[in-house]
Amino acid sequence: MKKIVLLLSILFISILYADTAKMQKTQVLGYYRFMAGNYEITSIYDGYSNLALDTYKGTDAAGAEASIKKEYSHVSGSGKDFRLKISVNTFLINTGKDLILIDTGSGNSAGPTMGAVRKNIEMSGYKPEDVTKIVFTHLHPDHVGGLAEGGKPVYPNAVIYVNEKEMEFWLNNPGFKQEFKDILNSYKNNKKYKALKDGTEIVTGIKGVLLPGHTIAHMGYEVNSGGQKLLIWGDIVHGYEVQFANPDVTTAYDYDQNQAKETRKALMAKVSKDGTMIAGSHLPFPGIGHIESNAGGAGYRWIPVQYIPLD
Ligand SMILES: [Zn+2]
Repeated sequence: MKKIVLLLSILFISILYADTAKMQKTQVLGYYRFMAGNYEITSIYDGYSNLALDTYKGTDAAGAEASIKKEYSHVSGSGKDFRLKISVNTFLINTGKDLILIDTGSGNSAGPTMGAVRKNIEMSGYKPEDVTKIVFTHLHPDHVGGLAEGGKPVYPNAVIYVNEKEMEFWLNNPGFKQEFKDILNSYKNNKKYKALKDGTEIVTGIKGVLLPGHTIAHMGYEVNSGGQKLLIWGDIVHGYEVQFANPDVTTAYDYDQNQAKETRKALMAKVSKDGTMIAGSHLPFPGIGHIESNAGGAGYRWIPVQYIPLD
């Protein structure tokens, strides 16, 4: 009797759910593409990092949490376990002659929520071998970790570009992972490393801009093509929810808190006035948009790009 009841229940449940579609539980591919003048830009998603509230300096945890909740951002936990999920983005620029990757993401240095850059470059239609130049904003693990896998270069045909001071700082830093030092030194020794300074032109229409503070010589990259301007600003912001509302807030990751703050404030004041398009490593994917100063108040508003086909 029990068996019959069980069989009938299974039959009943099967009928009930027979036309229910199976959920896919997968996201759209991790890239977003647009044109900046004649240059094709592809945002490449590496993954996300979980930031605790005490990452933010110059605000209390309650203030930071309130700013985050106001934006309905992706969070988990509460109290000491509260975490904000921030994007890790890299950018691929096709100039028609060069395929330039700005930062390499985390590779396998940061756990399962990150390290998708190589896969997403492939999904976007390119191969790692197609990359001719890799340009770094700075050498933190979430930016340099994807340069090698198992000690071997992921982008075998690329030359790397790093700010001179940034490169020497990390190569001589005892806390910097030996595997990162090894791969960077191999590029250096094989003459596949070009030293950058403020204002260095990488190719026509793309030049480095020193934006120091987050690291000793953190760089941004200005892309000028066909009358359009894009600033790839690296790690000027970690959590737009908190630092757009109050640009004075710094993070535990900043090398020089005061310099990081001054750089961010000056840059935000400038780009909110001149309408420069921004690409950020830790702005919500695809990390592209504009900045507007808040009407009648302090701080700024982030205006993300909208989806549109390229034709
Ligand atoms: Zn970063």
